[in-house]
Amino acid sequence: MKSNEIRHTFLDYFQHKQHKYLSSSPLVLSSDKSLLFVNAGMVPFKNVFLGQEQLPYTRVCSSQKCLRVSGKHNDLESVGSSPRHHTFFEMLGNFSFGDYFKQEAIHTAWELLTQVYQLPVERLWISVYKDDEESARIWEEVGVPRQRILPFGDEDNFWSMGETGPCGPCSEIHYYRGSDPSKQRPEGVNSADDDYMEIWNLVFMQYNRDEQGSLTPLSAFSVDTGMGLERLTTALQGVQSSYETDLFLPILQRLLELNRQGNAHYQQHQPTYNAIADHSRSLAFLIADHVVPGNNGRDYVLRRLIRRAAYMGRTLGLEQPFLASVAQVSIDILGQQYPELQQSSADIQALLTAEEKRFQRTLSRGLRFLEEVCQQLTQAGQRTLPGPEAFKLYDTFGFPLDLTQKILAERGLSVSMQAYEEERLKQQQRSRQHAAFK
Ligand code: ATP
Ligand code: MG
Ligand code: MG
Ligand code: MG
Repeated sequence: MKSNEIRHTFLDYFQHKQHKYLSSSPLVLSSDKSLLFVNAGMVPFKNVFLGQEQLPYTRVCSSQKCLRVSGKHNDLESVGSSPRHHTFFEMLGNFSFGDYFKQEAIHTAWELLTQVYQLPVERLWISVYKDDEESARIWEEVGVPRQRILPFGDEDNFWSMGETGPCGPCSEIHYYRGSDPSKQRPEGVNSADDDYMEIWNLVFMQYNRDEQGSLTPLSAFSVDTGMGLERLTTALQGVQSSYETDLFLPILQRLLELNRQGNAHYQQHQPTYNAIADHSRSLAFLIADHVVPGNNGRDYVLRRLIRRAAYMGRTLGLEQPFLASVAQVSIDILGQQYPELQQSSADIQALLTAEEKRFQRTLSRGLRFLEEVCQQLTQAGQRTLPGPEAFKLYDTFGFPLDLTQKILAERGLSVSMQAYEEERLKQQQRSRQHAAFK
């Protein structure tokens, strides 16, 4: 099944079950100040879960654009090396606002995965919240053997959107992708073992968490589910990572073409190629949702992602601006489902190339400076970059701090954060004095 068909099958299935299909909200919801970007399918419905807003429907399904690069859910540092974590991804979800609860949510999820998509039952594992006996019993009812239903605590099986907001116990479906189903180990679920992949989270929304951290029961119990399209596609296309699915392969191909390289080079530099392919999607979607590269807040997230991607491209040998061409492939792949991509494609091209060129002017000099400093550090037997040097990389060469940290980490070095912060404050003071003098 192609990813487009996988997405449609999900949405059709829930529409047949009387869910109203709502198209994705933008990545930026200015009505919600608690998040920089939408990070889950439930975010646009936060106030509905809290009972502060009413929709004309109690059952909804969607394919929501999500970005996890900041706040409580931040996967940026795993992207590229992880076969399943992306900055941008699509979250398929079905929602009940005070309508059905655990019983129907679990029955439908199981039917969809095993009957419609026909995922092999013997590769599926279930996790439940530690004292949620009710969910465990329903999973048994649908046919999951007890030894495949595993209880976990707050960290894994109590879901919250952010520091505040709707939350509740959850139950997840994990897929074993390893070569030998008879060798499956329960400890693999919820561990770093890449043979196991969480695919679907069913959240039973029961509480609101306030600023003090206390939980108040919601007036109506609801259901919020989220399944990553990229992960479901990985399972259904029988591959080892989302980069091998039709959602990413053409992007990687373009990148290799631009770099005049083949599979051998890809194998050698897989995490870097993967991360650029990943970032190209985020860049296209952010610009389509009217974020522009800049120095603050959301705009700086976009700038940081562009500069990370540009740096990574340079390490692969790409000398010319390449992001616009790579982003165009992600527009081609997802433009039908998200028409805003096509509508903004000229802006996406122009903004990416302008920002990339701006950074390329200082990138080589910055890298030379960094290389020299690293050599001096290593010769002196030191492992942390002093504040003034780290700040100079930011201020003079335009290296976002996280990029400097990434490059240093590649050499086993780090940044002295406190000294960096002191240097930044000093610089702020200097420019204030300068302004006052003028
Ligand atoms: P993980 O434990 O793998 O980090 P999660 O528990 O943080 O995932 P949830 O918050 O439960 O994820 O989100 C619901 C679903 O969204 C997940 O089951 C997964 O399919 C998908 N998902 C979550 N984070 C990502 C990501 N960074 N990239 C792609 N898909 C993701
Ligand atoms: Mg996570
Ligand atoms: Mg998880
Ligand atoms: Mg989860």
